[in-house]
Amino acid sequence: MLTYLGLSVVVSLAACAERMEDASVSGSPELPLQTPLQAGQAPVVPLESSLHVGADVGPPAGALAQAARHGDVRISHGSVQDGVGAAELIAYLEADSSLPPTREEEGMPVDTILEVPLLRFRPEPPTVYVADGTPPALVDETVRVVQAINAALPPNWQLQFSPVPAPAGALQPADGWIHVTFAPQEDWPVNAMPSNGEDIGLAEPVISAVPTGDPAVPVRFEYVAGRVLVDHTRTSGLKRLGVIAHELIHLLGRNHVDPARFPETIMVGGGSEELTEHILHPLDREALLAAYGHLKPKTTQNGIAEDLENWADTSLHVRGALGSEGGEIAFGAALRNGLSQPWATGPTPGTAIKDNTALSGSVNWSGRLVGFTPGVEAVAGAADLSVDLTSMLGTAVFTGLEQWAADAAPGALGTGTVWNDGDLRYVIEVQGNTFVQTGGDAGTVTGAFFGPAHEGMGGVLRRDDLSAGFGGKR
Ligand SMILES: [Zn+2]
Repeated sequence: MLTYLGLSVVVSLAACAERMEDASVSGSPELPLQTPLQAGQAPVVPLESSLHVGADVGPPAGALAQAARHGDVRISHGSVQDGVGAAELIAYLEADSSLPPTREEEGMPVDTILEVPLLRFRPEPPTVYVADGTPPALVDETVRVVQAINAALPPNWQLQFSPVPAPAGALQPADGWIHVTFAPQEDWPVNAMPSNGEDIGLAEPVISAVPTGDPAVPVRFEYVAGRVLVDHTRTSGLKRLGVIAHELIHLLGRNHVDPARFPETIMVGGGSEELTEHILHPLDREALLAAYGHLKPKTTQNGIAEDLENWADTSLHVRGALGSEGGEIAFGAALRNGLSQPWATGPTPGTAIKDNTALSGSVNWSGRLVGFTPGVEAVAGAADLSVDLTSMLGTAVFTGLEQWAADAAPGALGTGTVWNDGDLRYVIEVQGNTFVQTGGDAGTVTGAFFGPAHEGMGGVLRRDDLSAGFGGKR
């Protein structure tokens, strides 16, 4: 029977287990532990000698033509072919929604399944809960993974993160919940079924059959809840972030693909050998955007190519830069397939800002903001950050905001038209070498200090009507 066959296929695909050996890496001491309240902020990623805010979407240096100069800031604008492209994304999602070959070898009547589902979580985004008693460092890692996933998802489909943990002993997640539990494998619940002693991660979805009203495909399956188990004692650093992300993305519907065909995705069985500080690879990010921003609700394997035939491999960028190579602070936004992603990057500070004895009292940084409206209009304005180093509170103020015509490069200062009412104001709080908004206008601000002695700052602003990066100097 179609229904039962489909259900058994779904379960066997999704309840996977990962194997990875231990590895060491890890964060930067100046980056504060992230808490569930910060799941909506942009990721701040420590790289070898720089801090990066937002998704990994900055254009290569020199890829864009300079369009204007706003004070000390060089503004550039243009298109770069930097996406995975329709053919690769379609091939990946078709492979993802294929039956595993072992099913055919076992002689199951796969021909009777006319429409293989492209699995997704139910229409409302899930809320992630960590288990009661999860140590702050593991809550931090889970929040960082959610930030990386959210940076790739459409603004109207963002994972939520519960500020309170899941009740102790809760075995079955309620509808809409994803439970994340860190425990040595020998302590996993008896009904969790690791395939052997090497497994360190497991994702178990709760599946619902949704009637479609279409006699040819009477039901489709969607995930309505799930749980993730990670053996944190046997993995660490970037690999552990990768395991958490891999398991959460299983619950968002993605399955394993052949690592020989798709080496650059974290969704390969046993875990990817290709690690990135940004946690997700470009293919992982584009698959999330396609599944939750572009594919029609009823799309099956047969409809993927049609839904994604116009999937673009070219981004429109607007970029601002201050300073010289080596010490450059750069920021901007990249817009592709309807998603505008802001970013900022600059040199890692030598100490936490509270330990910088050369700074005291109120300190100010100024520079520029550049970004896009949803209508592809470039926006630019002044960016001013002020911090009281005693209270570690301050303001981020964006003024003189102007916009130019859709698809057009920003011109000289004052040549655009006023964007909205021309300014945005946020109250911010400093945490380590980062800062986040705590009040003010709508939107989220996530920033970091840059340079050996905090000479610079930068960050991203994400709102419904504007995605922008900003940067400045003391
Ligand atoms: Zn897996």
